[in-house]
Amino acid sequence: MKIEAARTAETDELSIPVNDTLQDRTILVTGAGDGIGKAAALTYARSGATVILLGRTQQKLEAVYDVIARENLPEAVIHPLDLAIAGTDDYDLLGRSVQEQFPALDGLLHNASELGALGPIQYYAPEAWMKIMQINVNAAFLLTRALLPAMLPSPDARILFTSSSVGRKGRAYWGAYAVSKFATEGLMQVLADELTETSNIRVNSINPGATRTEMRRAAYPAENPLTLPTAASLMPAYLHLMQPDSQLLHGQAIDIRSLLTELQPE
Ligand code: NAP
Repeated sequence: MKIEAARTAETDELSIPVNDTLQDRTILVTGAGDGIGKAAALTYARSGATVILLGRTQQKLEAVYDVIARENLPEAVIHPLDLAIAGTDDYDLLGRSVQEQFPALDGLLHNASELGALGPIQYYAPEAWMKIMQINVNAAFLLTRALLPAMLPSPDARILFTSSSVGRKGRAYWGAYAVSKFATEGLMQVLADELTETSNIRVNSINPGATRTEMRRAAYPAENPLTLPTAASLMPAYLHLMQPDSQLLHGQAIDIRSLLTELQPE
């Protein structure tokens, strides 16, 4: 319980100075109720953006909404959606509703993912495999497809996919999760190449690395979470990649440690 309390507090903490670099921008974050997604949603709101909080658990989204309201930041929008079961119509409805409510969608952070079971491919349950691919890859495709019409009017929109080290080099027993992250990198590259000449949208993927969240705890139950970087400590990179001045980064598989080092003040 103590570790949980510390983790939550560290996610909420203000790790970077408040500024207005995302003023008047609208950014949708998936998996915004917990972990890295929660920290990113708060960071974007604290930098002036209106955030659309998409996630599975309404209560968690409401808690993030409440923090944003308490700090008098631009009012957030809650959009509960279970990516494991959402259908094409759900995504299309969301796309239309974003187009109706906002002049443009300026940022999309694909962050929600499930780890699923770890184990050898030979024994991986097919239903479990399909579920992980649905949440981690197919949902990102469906959401991107539905939201692109709302992003095209933005002068400099950003799409950021979330990868993992096991999505850049395969590792035994990481099963569907690892494969889904390779597919995520593929989706990022294809989309980035398509949009290079036809839009102002810049598309990248980020590997946050080992981070003190529930997912990490599930993957490494014996590890002391206090030895890991907090989600809040990654936020300078997540913020940079949503800002207009990151326009030179496109189609890149970004390593967060290098980017954080680059962004450190001299
Ligand atoms: P986390 O704390 O487990 O948070 C994952 C978020 O995704 C939660 O808000 C969760 O919602 C949401 N989500 C999961 N399944 C969903 C579904 N079916 N529908 C809608 N939302 C769903 O994980 P995290 O560590 O912050 O991970 C964030 C991203 O970073 C993931 O893409 C992960 O693969 C990646 N990553 C993390 C690490 C790490 O060490 N933590 C390392 C490499 C990559 P609920 O809270 O409602 O369940």
